[in-house]
Amino acid sequence: MGISQTWRTKAEQDDLYAQGRTKPGVIVTKCRYPNSPHNWGVAFDIYRNDGKGAYADNDGWFKKCGQIGKKLGLCWGGDFKSFVDKPHFELPEYLPGSSCKTLLARYRTPENFKKTWKEHEMTQEQFDKMMDDYLSRREKAAVSAWARTEMAEAIRRGITDGKRPGSFATREEVAVMALRAAKKEE
Ligand SMILES: [Zn+2]
Repeated sequence: MGISQTWRTKAEQDDLYAQGRTKPGVIVTKCRYPNSPHNWGVAFDIYRNDGKGAYADNDGWFKKCGQIGKKLGLCWGGDFKSFVDKPHFELPEYLPGSSCKTLLARYRTPENFKKTWKEHEMTQEQFDKMMDDYLSRREKAAVSAWARTEMAEAIRRGITDGKRPGSFATREEVAVMALRAAKKEE
């Protein structure tokens, strides 16, 4: 996936609002500035980046992303009732009821809100560690209960490192692992 937009300026929001109304195109927003979470920098939109077409969704790709986003604590536009927006995600803690009312009441303008933002940059090292933690959690979770004892034993004997060779082992990998196991037994 790729990110197509996060923060949206007033000019960009005005332009987008005109689309399908006073300008050609289809209507893609119901919000005028500053009523879109994008104007406050608390939302982002994704597109498909796997060569199948940016918004191709015949295989439920956007829903899959939506489920992942929800697990991470994001609010997903695919769940919106009045204006289903599958590429859209937002930070719910700033938008009770998916509305900018709270931000408007508290800060009046996105510029004031932006002043409260803290500089936060992740180093490559921190990012790598985060990805490692995430992947190892996934790998641990991926071991099925019926194979857990054997998996631990196989790791102990150095037959496998316990990491997934991909989405599943190929027959070549199975053959190599079985032969290595047999050799260690001998
Ligand atoms: Zn959006």
